[in-house]
Amino acid sequence: MAKTILLSKSFLAILFFALISSYCEKDSSELSSNNQDIPSVYSKIYGAKSISIDGDYVTIKTEGMPDHKSVYYETNHELYESFSGNTFEGNPFRKNPNTIVTQNLTFKIPLNPEKAANNRATSLGPIGVALNGVALYNQYAGPNNLELTHEINSFDQYYGHPQGVGQYHYHVEPLYLTTVKSTRAGLIGFLLDGFPVYGPEEDGKTLTSDDLDSFHGHSHPTDDFPNGIYHYHFTADPPYLNGSGYYGNPGTISQ
Ligand SMILES: [Zn+2]
Ligand SMILES: [Zn+2]
Repeated sequence: MAKTILLSKSFLAILFFALISSYCEKDSSELSSNNQDIPSVYSKIYGAKSISIDGDYVTIKTEGMPDHKSVYYETNHELYESFSGNTFEGNPFRKNPNTIVTQNLTFKIPLNPEKAANNRATSLGPIGVALNGVALYNQYAGPNNLELTHEINSFDQYYGHPQGVGQYHYHVEPLYLTTVKSTRAGLIGFLLDGFPVYGPEEDGKTLTSDDLDSFHGHSHPTDDFPNGIYHYHFTADPPYLNGSGYYGNPGTISQ
């Protein structure tokens, strides 16, 4: 009997300390989230005007201007460069009538992305941000999710183009990032659900959509996330970047 009381007393003591320590842990994590350091991976978004942590979100502000040459800059712009010949998939380039205009984009993405219970479709317009601050778009053309086919020949020398109000964007592998600023196997950006986007290469192999799930990604460790993370990959075959919607719960884009 005495032994039982002793046991239950020490059990209570353990329980008490467990409760105290879990309370303290919670307390300190709440404290640190108030003046939290920005995880270093986000500093790779070198084209951002500002990056901040707002609660459970990372807020990334950009002007959405490509930092590489484009035939879509005004001809007197220092980054203007004429372009002719073939573009993505060997299509003969045909310039669209638009010119690149400075944007005011605010991407708010989850700091700790999670798989969504109900996956949401991506919409037209920005669905993510590339490292240079340029918007990432899905595999469709406006206004009613038309196939991209008729737009592909208007991709410039780095496979981007501006839409009607001059917002420059990439639907497919951004060549300047995969060949100059990062690598074909490197980090390229983030989608609005907070999950990262990588180039088309992995372990020396060029991926196709067949290597990925229906959202156009998969999970495993990467250089930036050694503990493993879900991530999207660009591929040369459609849907190029995203398949049937966001894998996680998307944040917001305001423009
Ligand atoms: Zn487009
Ligand atoms: Zn991968």
